[in-house]
Amino acid sequence: EPGARRRVVNRSTVANVDLESLAHNARVIRAHLAALRGADSPAFAGVVKADAYGHGAVPAARTLVESGASMLACADIDEGLELRAAGLDVPILVFGAFSLGDLDGIFEGRLTPTVSTPTAARRLQEAAAARGVRLGYHLGVDTGMLRLGLRHDNLERTLPAILDSPNLVLEGVYTHFATADTPGDDLFARQRRNFAEAEATLAARGVRGCLRHAANSGALLADPGTWFDLVRPGLLMYGVAPDAFDGRIDVRPVMSVRSRVAAVK
Ligand SMILES: *Cc1c(COP(=O)(O)O)cnc(C)c1O
Repeated sequence: EPGARRRVVNRSTVANVDLESLAHNARVIRAHLAALRGADSPAFAGVVKADAYGHGAVPAARTLVESGASMLACADIDEGLELRAAGLDVPILVFGAFSLGDLDGIFEGRLTPTVSTPTAARRLQEAAAARGVRLGYHLGVDTGMLRLGLRHDNLERTLPAILDSPNLVLEGVYTHFATADTPGDDLFARQRRNFAEAEATLAARGVRGCLRHAANSGALLADPGTWFDLVRPGLLMYGVAPDAFDGRIDVRPVMSVRSRVAAVK
């Protein structure tokens, strides 16, 4: 049944999701941000991709919004539509690549897509123009993770056409770190430098005032210099601190799994 996540009593193995722990984690993360940045603290996005890391997207999203998340982030259009259908009303950023043949959901669900390729920008521009609307988007920059995003070293070529799209409004620019949970990692340092250069390239093209964001859980704990305007912790929100930072922040596991001992031999 949709929405039913109740304990099945005739089974002895149960995964329990404690939303109060999720709210607690959001609180301690916000306190951590405020301790270093005070009134100028970054906002936080509730990352609820992959069914909120298996915790249930809708209840997790509701709890995170009640705990101060100013944005939700998910992997694809269907996940975003599920959140809208449940009545969640904050901006929803879609991280993933979407099927260019099926963009209706972005407009119907008022979702914020990530532009990761010039082709995606063209298709979104056409779709927005056909509907006579302006569509906000975030630009994903690949600073070295080699997953999604416009290559940081090719922006001079790819940016002009994207920024000139008359029906697209740049609301944010972000990158994703591959190794922020490994202290002293060289790729993390390079990705930070590359993102700074990407920002400079955007500024040189007159882009001002859009949200800049980069920090996943590892970066949030490793380097306040990556916090910018918004942080995007996933694992940490669900109570899992990267090994290197275990104990640095008082998050609690949100999920617990219990079973009955069937036999002792
Ligand atoms: C999954 C994801 C996050 C959160 O990462 P964690 O390591 O779970 O904190 C942040 N940003 C993007 C783009 C992601 O895909």
